[in-house]
Amino acid sequence: EAERALEEDTAPGATKDGDPIDLLVNIGTAADAERAAAADDARTVAGSGLFRTEVLFLDAQTAPPVAAQQKEYTAALAAFGGRKVVVRTLDAGADKPLAFATLPGEENPALGVRGYRIGRIHPQLMVDQLTALAAAAEATGTQPWVMAPMIATPAEAAEFAADARAAGLAKVGVMVEVPAAALRAKEILEQVDFVSIGTNDLAQYAMATDRLKGDLADLLDRWQPAVLDLVAATARAGTELGKPVGVCGESAADPLMALVLKGLGITSLSMSLGAVPAVRFALRHHTLEQCQAMAAAALAATGPTQARDAVVALLDPTT
Ligand code: PEP
Ligand code: MG
Repeated sequence: EAERALEEDTAPGATKDGDPIDLLVNIGTAADAERAAAADDARTVAGSGLFRTEVLFLDAQTAPPVAAQQKEYTAALAAFGGRKVVVRTLDAGADKPLAFATLPGEENPALGVRGYRIGRIHPQLMVDQLTALAAAAEATGTQPWVMAPMIATPAEAAEFAADARAAGLAKVGVMVEVPAAALRAKEILEQVDFVSIGTNDLAQYAMATDRLKGDLADLLDRWQPAVLDLVAATARAGTELGKPVGVCGESAADPLMALVLKGLGITSLSMSLGAVPAVRFALRHHTLEQCQAMAAAALAATGPTQARDAVVALLDPTT
């Protein structure tokens, strides 16, 4: 019965005292978007906070033509019917190799030409993708948000923003998943309209720990205070500049962590559709002030276990 109550709670994401936070879903294809929209006819999610476009082309041997891309993006935007959709430009390389984009034989592909950097060797890929997305926006009469992955510097953010705006896209952002970007979040946010934190890669790069190596999972723990520091610094920059700062990595799907993220000032959480009810429930049973106390406690902890325990100790006893 408790589970049913959880599923039936369809209010928009907010704290107990009504402070809002967008709850969004991660998708990889137009079919995912349609599934999420259909499973969500009560419109309980505010849209998609991460459309991983490289997933569409994992099997492609050659670069996808503009028309084929346009078709997929149009279907995904249409599925959400005008709700927010954050489209990420191709994040090829390392754990997501694309035959037509990635350099073969790199010794350290996670540190090599991946994500936004692919534009250095294949500039047309970015041009085509922005063109296709702008056409899909036009066809659906919607205004998608667009963001680039693996941005490391304000200069890269400025370059991407200029290209996306020139293509006719109005809401332009970048991912913060490289520690350098988190440390310079304010300068990056001055170039764009929003940022979204990819905690999977942010943890990988902050902890110098391959995200695919299960036997190092203790280092990759999302509760590592150093990773939380980088998230906090990024959130602070967003609050200062009054611009949205989302989280779209796995951290967003953890209900306890969601409370901490809300307390840090994060404005949206994007996760798998199945994770939404528990995250919504946790947020609705804690005030903003409680979330802020949890965030402070997590940041003050000496290690990941201590950080998580400190937050558990502050859970509202009535929930
Ligand atoms: C991340 O790095 O946290 C992220 C959301 O992107 P991906 O997992 O696709 O690299
Ligand atoms: Mg990433």
